[in-house]
Amino acid sequence: MYKKVTKQDVLALQKLIDEKRVFVYDESISEYSKDELGTLIGKPEVIVKVVATEEVSKVAKYAYDNNIPLTVRGSGTGLVGACVPLYGGIVLDTTLMNKIIGIDEENQILEVEAGALLMEIAEYTKERGYFYAPDPGEKSATIGGNIITNAGGMRAVKHGVTRDWVRALEVVLMDGTVLEFGKKVVKDTSGYSLKNLIIGSEGTLAIVTKAYLKVTAAPEKTLSLLVPYDSLEKAIEKVPAILNSGTNPTAVEFFTREALEYSETFLGKKFPDQNSPAYILLMFDGSETEVDANAKKISEILINELEAVDVLIVDTDERNDDVWSARSSFLEAIKASTTLMDECDVVVPRSEVGNYIKYTYELEKKYGLRLPSFGHAGDGNLHIYICKDDLSDKEWKEKLELVFEDLYNKAKEVGGLVSGEHGIGYAKMQYLKESVGEVQIDLMRRIKAAFDPKNLLNPGKVV
Ligand SMILES: Cc1cc2nc3c(=O)[nH]c(=O)nc-3n(C[C@H](O)[C@H](O)[C@H](O)COP(=O)(O)OP(=O)(O)OC[C@H]3O[C@@H](n4cnc5c(N)ncnc54)[C@H](O)[C@@H]3O)c2cc1C
Repeated sequence: MYKKVTKQDVLALQKLIDEKRVFVYDESISEYSKDELGTLIGKPEVIVKVVATEEVSKVAKYAYDNNIPLTVRGSGTGLVGACVPLYGGIVLDTTLMNKIIGIDEENQILEVEAGALLMEIAEYTKERGYFYAPDPGEKSATIGGNIITNAGGMRAVKHGVTRDWVRALEVVLMDGTVLEFGKKVVKDTSGYSLKNLIIGSEGTLAIVTKAYLKVTAAPEKTLSLLVPYDSLEKAIEKVPAILNSGTNPTAVEFFTREALEYSETFLGKKFPDQNSPAYILLMFDGSETEVDANAKKISEILINELEAVDVLIVDTDERNDDVWSARSSFLEAIKASTTLMDECDVVVPRSEVGNYIKYTYELEKKYGLRLPSFGHAGDGNLHIYICKDDLSDKEWKEKLELVFEDLYNKAKEVGGLVSGEHGIGYAKMQYLKESVGEVQIDLMRRIKAAFDPKNLLNPGKVV
């Protein structure tokens, strides 16, 4: 159905851009055949490392004219197989297209190329007194990858997700056409929002080459509070009251002692508090007066009304690092604790978080599997890991399918969705279909066909 890449194609691509940045795939660069999930493999035929929009346009047009599939790859940190080239063809690597062009201070807009890394953007804005709020866990991801997966992260409770911070995008369509969706403006009701269609489209509609991101003045102060509880149920039950307290937290995370133990083993250091089975971790940011007042108010409420065991102020750099590095390591720590794992990234109404977590405990018993979890209590996005441990491949495959069915059915039953931030990619396609139904899938497919009529851009993903 697609044209195989030939020697002539490789030569033509080398001529179009630069021969040193066009590679034929072989096993020495096997990272191009998978992402961080690691279980889905698809080998590209050729890899092209682009440095400019014009190159992206030329490569896309070549692929379009020759009926060759093309899959964009950022840093490959995705967890649903989205950047894996299922039909071979070209992998377009954006990581050399990584310039941070600058801040338009009058319009508070940061202009960046798609391959710039999240950690570089954080450093660049901080040095200049600015703040780009989205803060997904993996800082080595590209901004293009963040935009195209609408990445979330812990600060979503107060500041929203990546979508809320994108003013405009420069994109390349599959036939090589270069377009700008959105402008450097704050409001926009100018027709259908193509910019918002691209955000979260997982590389299936267009290639992002440049982004114009909203930035604000950096918050004067950031402060975290670690709140031990004597049970996870009780901790999660109190989250709506925390959110209704008028203290405007930036992040509201929950985790258990079990998750901390994985992290302690993985990081080789003890968590600052050893006494409780469950914790809520709160973060506040803003002016010093505002942060101090909110932290004081919520501490009183937590102790006097919300049955917290204690409120520990995370007020030194060292303690802050200990607490947040433990929280940030959970995914990798759980991965290191087992032979293989898969994950479920559902999002449920905030009122259902407690019930949903209880349900995962029932599933652990039902299937005799380990399902460690943690999550963003403040936005209802849960990360549940299904661990293979010493199951045979056959048992694992069978059980995984049944556990996923149960987890996604439960999410649907309580009014949730298949993915809160990691996306659909290849791994969750079946569950998206079951969750939203045929009519919505058909609408999505027609949108895909409008952007990519030959189905060349990241085929076999999302819908
Ligand atoms: C330890 C860890 C923690 C994580 N924490 C979070 C978290 O808190 N929140 C969260 O949302 N995610 C998280 N992730 C998932 C992952 O980091 C994000 O999905 C990230 O946005 C992927 O960016 P990337 O550059 O690695 O993209 P890749 O994995 O390379 O690609 C992801 C998708 O984007 C497409 N793509 C990439 N660049 C472009 C482009 N320029 N134009 C068009 N399509 C493109 C690819 O084709 C693919 O479909 C985490 C992952 C890990 C390993």
